[in-house]
Amino acid sequence: MLLAAEKDLADVLVVDDTPTDRELLAAMLSGQGYQVRSAASGIHALEQIKLVQPDLILLDIHMPEMDGFEVCRHLKQSRQFSGIPIIFISVSDDTDSKVAAFNCGGIDYVTKPYRSAEIKARIHAHLQMKRARDRLGFQAGHDALTGLPNRHLLTDRLQQAISFADRYGGQLGVAYIDLDKFKTVNDRLGHEAGDRVLVEAACRLQACVRDSDTIARIGGDEFVIVFYDQSGDSVAASAMQRILDCMSEPVVVDGYSIVPGCSIGFACFPQDGRDVDTLLKNADTAMYRAKEIGRNNYQFYTTELHHRLNSRMELEKSLCAALERGEFVLHYQPRIELRSGRLAGLEALIRWQHPELGLLPPMHFIPAAEEAGLSGSIGDWVVRAACTQHKLWEQAGLSQVPIAINVSASQFFSPGFAQSISAALRDTDVAASSLELDLKESLLMQDPSATIRILRELKVIGIGLSIDDFGTGFSNLGYLKRFPVDRIKLDPSFISEIHSHPDDLAIADAIIGMAHRLRLKVAAEGAESGSQIAMLAARGCDEMQGDYFSPALPADMCAALLQEKRVLEIERIGTPLTMRTVLLIDPDPDSRRALSTMSESAGYRLLEAPDAHEAFDVLATEEVSVVLCDSGMHGMSGIEFLSRARKMYPDTVRVLLSAWSDAGMATDAINRGGVYKFVHKPWNDGEMAAMLEDAFTRYENNLRTAGLH
Ligand code: GH3
Ligand code: MG
Repeated sequence: MLLAAEKDLADVLVVDDTPTDRELLAAMLSGQGYQVRSAASGIHALEQIKLVQPDLILLDIHMPEMDGFEVCRHLKQSRQFSGIPIIFISVSDDTDSKVAAFNCGGIDYVTKPYRSAEIKARIHAHLQMKRARDRLGFQAGHDALTGLPNRHLLTDRLQQAISFADRYGGQLGVAYIDLDKFKTVNDRLGHEAGDRVLVEAACRLQACVRDSDTIARIGGDEFVIVFYDQSGDSVAASAMQRILDCMSEPVVVDGYSIVPGCSIGFACFPQDGRDVDTLLKNADTAMYRAKEIGRNNYQFYTTELHHRLNSRMELEKSLCAALERGEFVLHYQPRIELRSGRLAGLEALIRWQHPELGLLPPMHFIPAAEEAGLSGSIGDWVVRAACTQHKLWEQAGLSQVPIAINVSASQFFSPGFAQSISAALRDTDVAASSLELDLKESLLMQDPSATIRILRELKVIGIGLSIDDFGTGFSNLGYLKRFPVDRIKLDPSFISEIHSHPDDLAIADAIIGMAHRLRLKVAAEGAESGSQIAMLAARGCDEMQGDYFSPALPADMCAALLQEKRVLEIERIGTPLTMRTVLLIDPDPDSRRALSTMSESAGYRLLEAPDAHEAFDVLATEEVSVVLCDSGMHGMSGIEFLSRARKMYPDTVRVLLSAWSDAGMATDAINRGGVYKFVHKPWNDGEMAAMLEDAFTRYENNLRTAGLH
């Protein structure tokens, strides 16, 4: 059958029992460039539509045998034709007819006699809207990158295929395909290159199967193929082998040759599952097995796999038992106030003391607990365990600082959550101010209005509230001021390069500034070095939590830490300038030695670093006036280093050292690094001393004009 929508020309069907009316309309529309067909009765119209599907129908109401309303109802009931816009054209100008026309599915109504300009305009408008709807319909069912059907459309088609096979006793095969180690393509060559590999993989899969089979992309690097009328394992096996073979040919992207490679799991209807979900799940399980045994192979779903699936059920069962037997424990990680270096709070983190497997971190069992619907009970246990511990430490005179616990989405949104928290506080006789809840940014954004309501209930009780993993998924900053929270916890991904990456520093700066204006505290998570902490403190960050001070500790070790009252020593930046200080970054020890001798006699302080990495640590913790950087360092070029230093420490005076001269490099250095001078290596001591004197003077003048000195 011809689909008129596939042609550029729109196809319009005119249905009218009066020949002159039909002809008039047909002539007018053909003159507009439409492809026009006509039908003299309702029945004739339905026959025509089955032969060629029109893009739009102009439908008369009063016709013998079958009137326009009935034709319209017929079409609207059919899945295939319900999308065709129908415009009624009738001599009846009464409201009842018009209402009836719209009720049975008409999109518009024009009364005779009509003006041709009006009818043309209406037809044009409805065709435009139909095109837009068709496009959206396609987009909703297809993956934008590869153009393949998406999970939604796949589910639809698989469902239809199952119903058909069920009725006529047919078989179906479902292959679940996941590319092997695809992340490394993204990591090495970038996301765009990854995209190109995905598109190529999609084309190859299409080439491996019959046109009638369905291929869908259902996730990042996951594809599903539905084989219709699958007639046996050996046929399936050869199809799987064909896929493996065509995926083992290299793809060339940006001059690199990549072998996509994939692992495949296969499940059949009816023996491996009788519904969409079971078939997909079982094919997926088989695919995991293929990954486990070394990737680049295919596996059929088997009952043995079924047993392994049961082991997940075993895990769920033992999680229930673990709760009863008290196998969960809490570890505690200190949070430190950066102004004083003192303890500000503790975060409780759950562990499972498994009788055979030892101490398990949450990622090994929390997802299973979520799936088994146990996260509520485990969450309750955490609240009570943390409160009980707080009471014990309080009674022992060890600590009054609040304990923060993590709350899962299902726990947070479960009815009566706030009440369950206040019951736990009451039962353990702990003040509300002793408990804090850490709520992931993504959780809060799931349903902002419900979130605001629950947060308010918690605030009324007096619980401290923090947004966890801040910066990783906030889609609407407007909510930040509407959520009654006390603190945001900056995600570690912003912290790890804060002392060496201007962009990270700029983001952290912006978040700290914004949070303070909203009267929120900022805690940095995952701080791992003294220089990061010094940087955070200098930028006004309120608190830090990270292994640099202490990892999460079991209760007894944490008690010892509390007893000790250990304080975090923070190196301070911005202490009064005592001495002219120069930082030399040069991999060559001879040149560092040469400058060292010079600096002793000239009376200024010399700091040295062999590479950019160490240099950033020095800059984060020391007041440096002049930065001398060699152009040829390992890892990062001198110009790149100076350009970052310029953004992060704009007051410094920057000098580039180089063994060769090149005009391009010089312009680059000036534009990007804001370089003050170049010095050629090997340098002349007298010239170096004069240059340094100038540089220090410039630095001091800079500060004076900025009013800081
Ligand atoms: P494995 O062999 O275990 O499958 O390893 P893998 O690296 O392929 O891991 P996995 O299948 O879990 O990860 C798929 C990755 O695909 C995750 C994500 O980084 C990447 N990804 C997801 N969607 C897209 C996309 O649209 N484009 C690109 N370029 N990458 C994507
Ligand atoms: Mg993969």
